Amino acid sequence: MDLVPIGTRLYACLQPDRGLGWSNSGLIAAGGGMVVDTLYDQRLTAQMADLYAEVHPKAPARVVNTHHNGDHCWGNKIFENAEIIAHTGCAERFDEFTPAQAATMAAMENPPARLTGLVAAFREFRFDDVELVPPNRVIDGDLTLDLDGLEAEIRYVGPAHTAGDLIVSVPDQGVVFAGDVVFHRCTPIGWEETHRAWVDALAAIEAMAPETVVAGHGPLCNTDGVRAMREYLEYVWEESSFHHTAGQTASQACQTIDPGEYASWNEPWRLAFNVHRAYKELDGGAWDDPYDTGAAMADAALLQERWAS
Ligand SMILES: [Zn+2]
Repeated sequence: MDLVPIGTRLYACLQPDRGLGWSNSGLIAAGGGMVVDTLYDQRLTAQMADLYAEVHPKAPARVVNTHHNGDHCWGNKIFENAEIIAHTGCAERFDEFTPAQAATMAAMENPPARLTGLVAAFREFRFDDVELVPPNRVIDGDLTLDLDGLEAEIRYVGPAHTAGDLIVSVPDQGVVFAGDVVFHRCTPIGWEETHRAWVDALAAIEAMAPETVVAGHGPLCNTDGVRAMREYLEYVWEESSFHHTAGQTASQACQTIDPGEYASWNEPWRLAFNVHRAYKELDGGAWDDPYDTGAAMADAALLQERWAS
């Protein structure tokens, strides 16, 4: 992982995108220090804390969890004395899927075909000693903090990627820490959301015209990267709507849609998750209804096999 200065007293901790769970984090080294997202396990988060200590020796006073997925909050234990800020939608789902469940899956000897990729991805991390430390300051909307004269705007933009999506904007420096509302050069997966809300969240970030965006996954980007992500979601929505209207099943649509220019993004087969999610909504499902992730995983595995050959 690399510590990258992105402004005055602003840093990103970037991990190369090696697939599921290789997330990014940010640090505002002002006002006692504020970390935006911890990493998937305690070992990685401790490494990140060491990097942050090089530029902010005191333990950070605050952590923001942009949402409840483990790759953004399962390292909270490393900063357990901090004020840990998250949205209600994050706090309510904090232990929906636990490190113990992930550890059990990582230890599966003969996983079914549709889980092979997930199990292999989980094995890259150490979940057996992860202790969940939930947020201790839960917010319902936006929050602006004055960090020694540097304004940090915490904005709720969900349900875009999940129910509790927060982004952190530092407008004076044109920086946005976007969490998983933005994936850059890697294919997004969404959970509780609507297509419209995610597109609107991306458009809101574009309107801020940031010079630097720390995506939840992938390298740093700017407004162009945010636009590319919005266009991807719009493309998948249009294609899914077309196939839905034509009477095709979600699985048929997955195998028919041309990934086009997005084939070059990491893990393009995650398209299947986005199609299944779109179908749920096209079938009248509510934003927080689950979609069939088992079927999405199976379709993604088929695409991976097909596109790899
Ligand atoms: Zn993530």
